[in-house]
Amino acid sequence: MKLKVLVVAGDGIGPEVTGEAVRVLRTVAELGGYDFEFREALIGGVAIKQHGLPLPSSTLDAALESDAVLLGAVGGNEFNSLPPDRRPEAGLLQLRQSLGGYANLRPSFAWPALASNSPLKAEVVDGADILFVRELLGGLYFGEPRSWDREAGSAWNTMRYTRDEVIRVARVAFELAGARRKKVTSVDKANVLEVSQLWRATVTELASQYPDITLEHQYVDACAMHLMNTPRNFDVVLTENLFGDILSDEAAVITGSLGMLPSATLGGTVNLYEPVHGSAPDIAGKGLANPLGAILTAAMVLRHSAKLEQDAQAVETAVRKVLEQGYRTADLARGQSKMGVTTQEMGKHVHQAL
Ligand code: ATP
Ligand code: MG
Repeated sequence: MKLKVLVVAGDGIGPEVTGEAVRVLRTVAELGGYDFEFREALIGGVAIKQHGLPLPSSTLDAALESDAVLLGAVGGNEFNSLPPDRRPEAGLLQLRQSLGGYANLRPSFAWPALASNSPLKAEVVDGADILFVRELLGGLYFGEPRSWDREAGSAWNTMRYTRDEVIRVARVAFELAGARRKKVTSVDKANVLEVSQLWRATVTELASQYPDITLEHQYVDACAMHLMNTPRNFDVVLTENLFGDILSDEAAVITGSLGMLPSATLGGTVNLYEPVHGSAPDIAGKGLANPLGAILTAAMVLRHSAKLEQDAQAVETAVRKVLEQGYRTADLARGQSKMGVTTQEMGKHVHQAL
């Protein structure tokens, strides 16, 4: 097994958390006898400082030559005065667009040891294990026409999907559900929007190719409520771009900390993996960052790019173990009398559990 991983650690806590994620991937490679190759490149604020650009062409070239891109985070208050297209975040947007991934995966998992960190009752979230598959290149965020006519005092955006765009992302959801609990909940607003009617009809049509998967449809407003009331009823949730943006943030409360959330973007030239959190400049360089989101992101690299499902599960089990042993970075401690650890210490404990 050979895998070329480009590590773009970026800014703030990015280098700290990706450092621990890479350590975990190296451990997996060593234990399994796999040939993982790591290269590093600059993105975001660090790239602006050295090259004057948030995404140097050398980084993009290296990304396109790799099998997977593992990103930390980009951002930082010192760049706030730059125009939006020159800021660190522009580098990430450009990278995402150049790689062309259309299926954004965001798991929302209730870690038993962290049940008291969620504002939801333990008996509601216990056992919840949801995977969002969010369409990332279409819908309201990209649809034309779009404009703000200041004189007329009116503005508009367009939610537009083609059948092919729906099919390709829905296929990802059905395939992933096949390896999970075999249920897809497709989210739309088909009682009001024509674009949702196309969405629902297309997903329904594709479902006939996956007879072992149960498909259900939910209106987005009802789904928002069900996610909080009965999160255990969900397996894979398939959504268009805007709905997925909102619902996956909502469902993040099931997990209890921003520092625990991984993500992957599939379907493009090269898969892109990044923890959900940002660069968190307030805690950068202090050893306070929770590396588990980045480590769980590394598990997604193993699952989706290396096709090493068992190794991915081994990493997730190691994370569960260190949480059960009581190790907590500051964001997870919540005043409990648990064993406080730094970013690096948490990484070492996961390494040992592996
Ligand atoms: P960005 O501009 O890059 O999005 P941000 O200031 O919005 O950065 P986020 O990373 O989005 O920061 O997170 C918001 C807050 O959550 C941070 O201020 C930080 O305290 C906390 N946080 C985020 N990620 C982590 C983490 N991995 N470990 C611990 N705390 C975190
Ligand atoms: Mg942020």
